[in-house]
Amino acid sequence: MLLCENTSHMLTGRELASFRKSLLRWFRQFQRDLPWRKSKDSYRIWLSEIMLQQTRVVAVIPYYERFLERFPNVQSLAEAPEEEVLRLWSGLGYYSRARNLQKAAQQIAGEFGGTFPRSREQILSLSGIGEYTASAVASIAFGEKCAVLDGNVARVLSRLGAIRGDLRESKKWKNLQKEADRLLAPDAPGDWNQAMMELGATICTPRAPQCLLCPVASNCEGRKLGIAEGLPEARQKRDVVDVVLASLVVTNAQGETLLLPPPKQKNKDDQADHVPTLVSNLWHFPTISANGDLMKSVLASCKSIFTTKPPKPESFQQLASVRHSVTYRKVIVHPFLVRVIRLPKAHGANTIALNRVTELAISNLTRKIAKRALASLEAKRQ
Ligand code: SF4
Repeated sequence: MLLCENTSHMLTGRELASFRKSLLRWFRQFQRDLPWRKSKDSYRIWLSEIMLQQTRVVAVIPYYERFLERFPNVQSLAEAPEEEVLRLWSGLGYYSRARNLQKAAQQIAGEFGGTFPRSREQILSLSGIGEYTASAVASIAFGEKCAVLDGNVARVLSRLGAIRGDLRESKKWKNLQKEADRLLAPDAPGDWNQAMMELGATICTPRAPQCLLCPVASNCEGRKLGIAEGLPEARQKRDVVDVVLASLVVTNAQGETLLLPPPKQKNKDDQADHVPTLVSNLWHFPTISANGDLMKSVLASCKSIFTTKPPKPESFQQLASVRHSVTYRKVIVHPFLVRVIRLPKAHGANTIALNRVTELAISNLTRKIAKRALASLEAKRQ
């Protein structure tokens, strides 16, 4: 069918037309009923594409619906307080997506007179929008002839064309994009892109592709050679980094606690400082990187966290640790419940009831820690 090293499988002429017809017919008959497919509205399509980045469809649906209820259009999103946008995103992860979404809405309101830009080129100029999302929105909402390419589509292409090697290698990726553009059905670019994505999501899945149900199986070189399931070939993995953190859930008799504001990363290239990344730049319990003697590190760091007298060592109770994985980081967090009469002060801290911390924009990690602390307090009460 395709591509770079091996052009002998390239589909052309009638074969290509029949390939497009089969895939489009299958998509129009069997596509999943998803809320964002009920509309060609660019705002809705854009929102769904951003939410779906690295997040499963079932997890996205309730967030998508709640978000639209509160922010039904670009204007309402542009004008909302950032805190509220993040709160509605809370639990979906990768919070920079929400921040960029709002920045882009403000750009649309300011630079495009409140009307969503119609061309891929202009869409690409918006904050947080890359090649894939720009092509998806431009083709689905405005019928522009541009093919999407992400990991999902790349997998399908690699199997169709029996392409070996690391697909993310720059030259190979460029060739894949060329091939995706060549295959695109010019009279139905939006449906075509969705059909390729749907094929990858439901039939040509990473494990155990269902070739017997595939509408384009007769065009699949990977299947013919019996190597489809092994494609794409595995990339070299980045080494896993173990990260040890300690978090302090300082609480008073009224059940209030302290959350710190999103941390400022001193240097973007400072890979050693994992805390800002792991708390997703959101509200979080005072958290430190812990090295060596855990208790010693915690007590030492209290002096820099709190601007008033820090809690006494005897008020610290270590809770069961929390495990968390983010990309190449394997994180273990040791939470401490620190019970005090009066909450100490810390720069920018927010005082809030421990059982209401989810009202602020927090990460899943902070949520898990709060749960541990509440369970411990509850157990003591019984
Ligand atoms: Fe994927 Fe199998 Fe279809 Fe080939 S035949 S595209 S491997 S599902």
